Amino acid sequence: MTLNRKMLEENEMNGYAGYARNDQYNEKVVERIAQHYSAILRELGEDPEREGLKKTPERVAKALQFLTHGSDLDPAQVLRSAMFREDYSQMVIVKDIELYSLCEHHILPFFGKCHVAYIPKGQIVGLSKIPRVVDAFARRLQVQERLTVEIRDCIEATLQPIGVAVVIEAQHMCMVMRGIQKQHSIATTSAFTGEFNVEKTRAEFMRLIGRANPVG
Ligand SMILES: [Zn+2]
Repeated sequence: MTLNRKMLEENEMNGYAGYARNDQYNEKVVERIAQHYSAILRELGEDPEREGLKKTPERVAKALQFLTHGSDLDPAQVLRSAMFREDYSQMVIVKDIELYSLCEHHILPFFGKCHVAYIPKGQIVGLSKIPRVVDAFARRLQVQERLTVEIRDCIEATLQPIGVAVVIEAQHMCMVMRGIQKQHSIATTSAFTGEFNVEKTRAEFMRLIGRANPVG
């Protein structure tokens, strides 16, 4: 895969990685996915040649490449690009990070908010990098549980802080749209390391993001 890496790096330098619409794709992959999508449309009883659908296979192919391009990014490198030595050892929280991902079971969106905290041990990271890490892991075929743990582990391994906390609250279109009578239910997942395994610290974090402390 497939997105033009130079384009991604330019976006990265401009501060738009994962956010900017990316208009460069691997044309061969687009073509192959589009062919499959024409076949899918026919299987659904549609006419892929009718006006409204004519460009749909190609559009879907591009959208899917964009929505999974996180696999081409290196989130640890995103962090390493902006790490600084600093004797600050209070909790750093980035809350309400918008999150958009794709459920790997249904290839339908799940979306919501991610809250991240860490307690530095001599190293801090530019705050804008945390949402980029979230985005790099979210722009893949995912499950919410794994996404939560991957974000935690990346920050833990790269910054080596005193502790990391990640909470994700998301709505899954595969639940909302498929007739299950839980249309407003939100799935919450959390993952902690180090100091955040201490009840008092975790409770403070949960209070600061405005949530009840999870059991455990
Ligand atoms: Zn699903």
